[in-house]
Amino acid sequence: MVVILKPKTSNEAIKKITGELEALGVTVNPVIGTEMSILGLVGDTTRIDPSYIEANPNVERVMHVQEPFKKANRLFHPENTVIDVNGHTIGGNKIAVIAGPCSVENKEQIALVADEVKKCGASFLRGGAFKPRTSPYSFQGLKYEGLELLNEAKAKTGLPIVTELMSPYDIETFVEKADIIQVGARNMQNFDLLKELGKINKPILLKRGLSATIEELLMSAEYIMAGGNEQVILCERGIRTFETYTRNTLDLSAVPAIKKLSHLPVVIDPSHSAGKWWMVEPLSKAAIAVGADGLIIEVHNDPQKALCDGQQSIKPDVFAKLMEDLKVIAGAVGREI
Ligand code: PEP
Ligand code: MN
Repeated sequence: MVVILKPKTSNEAIKKITGELEALGVTVNPVIGTEMSILGLVGDTTRIDPSYIEANPNVERVMHVQEPFKKANRLFHPENTVIDVNGHTIGGNKIAVIAGPCSVENKEQIALVADEVKKCGASFLRGGAFKPRTSPYSFQGLKYEGLELLNEAKAKTGLPIVTELMSPYDIETFVEKADIIQVGARNMQNFDLLKELGKINKPILLKRGLSATIEELLMSAEYIMAGGNEQVILCERGIRTFETYTRNTLDLSAVPAIKKLSHLPVVIDPSHSAGKWWMVEPLSKAAIAVGADGLIIEVHNDPQKALCDGQQSIKPDVFAKLMEDLKVIAGAVGREI
């Protein structure tokens, strides 16, 4: 962090600011000029809020030379993080495919889709039991019954479950019933929820907020990691832009950007990104080519009758063909599915 002082700040004032900054636990290296002086702060500046320093009338500006996140930062953890879920990994050489319906609708539906995606080579089963819907009149999910049905499907297929948690009140239940807890786009900055998830020992799939920057996503991961839970998987699921043809705009550049900034695995959700089932195939291929560690794809046995997101769900036969194509692309980038 670099503190730029106002021109002609007195030596006395510089001494005073230096003392205040040192009290925050950093070393201060001053560069004193005739017109302008700057103070270079060395040490852990992640806990320093620049706005406090900027409140000093002698300070012109504070500049970050390092990202404000630490635990998620590749600088302090150069190796890729690999998350192991009952022997299924996310973040290693093998690309993780998470597939299943948007929502668990009934016993037959989730059992059938789980069976189909397993046959095609998916390594995780997704399915929402608690649904964050824009309208309170839309299907809200089967809730606790949905979690039970997911576990029945898991017992038959062996596929670990990825499902969304909305309220801190349900954390204990989710620790027991889910293998990866999903935090949806709408809750990416629900800091109280993130803090609670920092206290548990369970992988978290953290989706990028509707209009969140990459740094904000990483800071949300930092909330979970700062509490002690370092098993965070990041998910790019499209962001809001001026474009309305697609439901959201898939930010493919987020993958190499996050890979450079962080050691955490990154997966792409082509379904919520585009909001169109026929775009899932090309976007999934692009995701693998750009270096994503996995995909989370909505698959439904009868999309026209789906209670949620049928327009963006692919049928099992389309998913089967896609998995074959993805194997080829994964091979071309030195990975496997
Ligand atoms: C979902 O995955 O079912 C979902 C609601 O996604 P998002 O939070 O990305 O909208
Ligand atoms: Mn959905």
